Amino acid sequence: MTTYFTAEYTCAVCGQRHPFTVVGSTNRFGYPDLDLRPAPMERDTIHTWVQTCPDCGYTAGTIDKETSVDETWLSREAYKTCEGIAFGSQLAAKFYRSYMVHLYDDDIERAAYNLLYCAWACDDARDIENAVKVRAKAADLFAEVSKTNDNDDLKLLRMDLLRRSGQFDRLLNEYRTVIFSDDLYKRIASFQMKRAIVHDTGCHSVEEVVMLPK
Ligand SMILES: [Zn+2]
Repeated sequence: MTTYFTAEYTCAVCGQRHPFTVVGSTNRFGYPDLDLRPAPMERDTIHTWVQTCPDCGYTAGTIDKETSVDETWLSREAYKTCEGIAFGSQLAAKFYRSYMVHLYDDDIERAAYNLLYCAWACDDARDIENAVKVRAKAADLFAEVSKTNDNDDLKLLRMDLLRRSGQFDRLLNEYRTVIFSDDLYKRIASFQMKRAIVHDTGCHSVEEVVMLPK
């Protein structure tokens, strides 16, 4: 089971203290999705992964995280409106603002992961249009991350982002010559290519790949 408790954090921008719900402990039952979204019950703790200061609007994993943004930056229309994207979920909007903050702080890896979490929050809210839009942005940003941190986990994650944002030809072209050394990764990559060929944008889990005959 998951346990929660309340902890106070001091906002790194305005200095106010606020209580937030945080996870004490959790666990996972089952396989993750192909974009590494964890299985329940960790999956259901997503609402605790981002905090917004009620005073100044600063948004990050925890509001005590040092940042170069200030209250003027946070009061901009672009930040408040998530660059004009009308999210169907407040949680998705929070992750998007956290992405904007991390991008401004030049932490593109954390920014990219916040886009991924934003897409998950869109999925949960059945906000498919924005889920697609955000996944496409995340796929591009993770390509930037890969230039300095090239690892197979990110490559595999990008395959799912490209497929689920409907960029099938791009996925097939970019990954035709990519070779994974790990056997499970090879099988996941092959599964992604096959799903891309039939233009499948659906959510699939690692379990489906594991259950396929070799
Ligand atoms: Zn604040």
